[in-house]
Amino acid sequence: MPVPSSRISHLNGDGDDGWSLFYKARAMKAAGVPILELTIGEHDIRTAPDILDEMHRAATAGHTGYAAVPGIAALRAAVAARLSDSHAIRYGADNILITPGGQAGLFATHHAVCDEGDRALMIDPYYATYPGSIRAVGAVPVPVRARSEDGFQPDLAALSAAAKGARSLLINSPNNPTGAVYTEASLAGIAEIAGAHDLWVISDEVYDTQVWTGRHIPIASLPGMAERTLTIGSLSKSHAMTGSRLGWIAGPEDMIEHLINLATHTTYGVPGYIQEAGLYALNSGPATEAAVAAPFLRRRKIMLDRIAAQNRIRAIPPDGAMYVMLDIRATGLSGEEFAARLLDEEQVAVMPGESFGAASAGHLRVALTLPDDQFTIAVDRLMRFSESL
Ligand code: PMP
Repeated sequence: MPVPSSRISHLNGDGDDGWSLFYKARAMKAAGVPILELTIGEHDIRTAPDILDEMHRAATAGHTGYAAVPGIAALRAAVAARLSDSHAIRYGADNILITPGGQAGLFATHHAVCDEGDRALMIDPYYATYPGSIRAVGAVPVPVRARSEDGFQPDLAALSAAAKGARSLLINSPNNPTGAVYTEASLAGIAEIAGAHDLWVISDEVYDTQVWTGRHIPIASLPGMAERTLTIGSLSKSHAMTGSRLGWIAGPEDMIEHLINLATHTTYGVPGYIQEAGLYALNSGPATEAAVAAPFLRRRKIMLDRIAAQNRIRAIPPDGAMYVMLDIRATGLSGEEFAARLLDEEQVAVMPGESFGAASAGHLRVALTLPDDQFTIAVDRLMRFSESL
């Protein structure tokens, strides 16, 4: 057959995609092994019945044709109001593009700001799809280290050094995989660097409803930043709607116009009945979001209490999101070795830190995504395994 493009052939770089442990755990599970799975960021609950009722109502009411490509007006307005109310960014509906999830937003925003060969900065550790999303548009991912010892706040000196000649910077707070919520000082430093080097900032804020300590500050709300920031949001994490594929990009109107044009040539919009359900979900208020987030805070405590009772594994207490990062370097194993043996010996699947970049080597990312009783069993097995080493 004719050869595929080199761009798509090299989407994952030269290595694997870092998900071999996840695929192995899924295969074991499919073969009947009772794996306790703490791998991907997927809730143990499903989308709430009232949201699904609204989806059904909208579909049977006829919202099954092509929806407006930029998103239905009411949802664009609701997203704008949400960002404006909570964060004093003056956005209107024209500042919003509805996308099929945050992932589509990561691709579209990089497509919109990077030319072929441009350097696109991202903070390492990073969400696993980041390098591929950047390569997919022909740009070059440049990881900039955040250190475990700094609670995974970005290293501003390293960022400043890397920023020269770069086109964009992708940040993610609350962070996957680390749970770091960027401090005011970190964000002010990033803003200064972005201004000095005329960078676009792509801010992935899909975990903004899951903050345990500190507070979420959208970087677009900092002085001078709205004009150079594209913010990515999603209902996946906030409303347990991962499978509905519904998110948005917020940014300057001119840029949203370009992104609408891109959507016309790629996704052609998001199903209207999904958008109607998303609008209903957003309008159902903060109590709904708090209820979806609450289990992660409970399990965070279960984990941190167990960690406090020993001194071999160190936790980096997450300020937000649905994960806990564990520093297992004192065991002498790499994250990959630890995770592989934990899967084989204890049937517990967690992600090796190496899957998220060099800066989280020797760490594990534990997703807080099993019911409390099973989660507790999984953590106890992890501790037992660590003590056996
Ligand atoms: N960004 C981050 C940091 C994520 O963790 C995820 C999903 N795990 C996404 C974006 C994409 O989410 P979605 O496409 O479901 O909105």
